[in-house]
Amino acid sequence: MLIAKSDLHSALKKYFGFNKFKGLQEDVVESIISGNHTFVIMPTGGGKSLCYQLPALMQEGTAIVVSPLIALMKNQVDAIRGVSNEEGIAHVLNSSLNKTEVKRVKEDIVNGVTKLLYVAPESLTKEENVEFLRSVKVSFMAIDEAHCISEWGHDFRPEYRNLRHIIGRIGDNIPIIGLTATATPKVQEDIIKNLGIGNARTFKASFNRPNLYYEVRPKTKNVDADIIRFVKQHEGKSGIVYCLSRKRVEELAQVLQVNGIKAVPYHAGLDAKSRSSYQDKFLMEDVDVVVATIAFGMGIDKPDVRFVIHHDIPKSIESYYQETGRAGRDGGEGHCLAFYSYKDIEKLEKFMSGKPVAEQEIGHALLQEMVAFAETSISRRKFILHYFGEEFDNETGEGGDMDDNVRHPKKKHEAKDDVKL
Ligand code: ADP
Ligand code: MG
Repeated sequence: MLIAKSDLHSALKKYFGFNKFKGLQEDVVESIISGNHTFVIMPTGGGKSLCYQLPALMQEGTAIVVSPLIALMKNQVDAIRGVSNEEGIAHVLNSSLNKTEVKRVKEDIVNGVTKLLYVAPESLTKEENVEFLRSVKVSFMAIDEAHCISEWGHDFRPEYRNLRHIIGRIGDNIPIIGLTATATPKVQEDIIKNLGIGNARTFKASFNRPNLYYEVRPKTKNVDADIIRFVKQHEGKSGIVYCLSRKRVEELAQVLQVNGIKAVPYHAGLDAKSRSSYQDKFLMEDVDVVVATIAFGMGIDKPDVRFVIHHDIPKSIESYYQETGRAGRDGGEGHCLAFYSYKDIEKLEKFMSGKPVAEQEIGHALLQEMVAFAETSISRRKFILHYFGEEFDNETGEGGDMDDNVRHPKKKHEAKDDVKL
């Protein structure tokens, strides 16, 4: 389908109210509308959803969107319905629907009303759903969070491995769109191979976050005091402190509270009511600091988080990037401070020891990269971007002086001395 640029812009305005495309969106939309297999790699918040939503709304037939989280799908469907007077324009198909609801969804699809159908991979595997989707006009298949396909990603889902096969059964020439915020070359290769889209047009945005300052400090027994000092230096500002265990989250939150800091704990062991109340308090700025496990952050969109502290080093550079990425979403200051001790690496290794060998090997390799990052004396930004397959020149690149190693270059042996101070 050929389409004029002005049509794309008026559709953008009509459906989303935006005047401009963000980053590579326009090129991606064009690629999809032209019927290409398309692969999109953009950081979180880059605007991936629109890349498939807009073409879906503009084309004939229904686009099938595979997404791993029901909550995310619901949000997206509500958002799309909000811009249209037609409730049937977007639907979720999952196992929680009753017979009447399923019938309604199918009718809307058959009648050409539904432009976007969100499904979890489990639902897509169901024979009756495959049979039904074979019989209707599908514009394309979008696989959101496509890194779930790869064991090298941070969120492997075995069901994602079946997708290629199922898509083949639904139709022969359906364009496939993969989208992810995972920039590591290994994961990308897996996605392309598993989805069978070797000829996909690939769009990769830069992962550089120029306003974030990266710093790693040695972790000593005084780490709590170090954190308290840091938080007090940033009084009244919002921040997240990540810990590995729930127990540590509880303890540290208390230590901060005792020291006069408005802090709350957050982890998956808390009941839903406490969790949502703490989250609200953070968003409303009744508290300044959330001490959390990695359970906190998915879908949290507080633009003015001014610091992210890692009390414990994360299990991969990817996790580190995702978690630090919650700072400075508004483009303002974002200080990312990680405390590192090799003992913590050994702890993480131990956690993995019960897992299948293949998983351990991957986990070990990812962890070693984390060690290299923590111990490096080159620019942290350069290191991260290189890990994501991106060249970065500190002289000319944005944010080139925004890390400890660039600001305070030191010889390697000095790093050890710091521990004693
Ligand atoms: P991703 O899936 O890449 O993490 P989202 O699709 O959730 O990102 O979009 C992130 C935010 O960017 C959303 O709030 C969305 O409304 C906004 N956004 C997307 N495209 C545009 C645009 N062209 N102009 C302004 N805001 C946009
Ligand atoms: Mg997304």
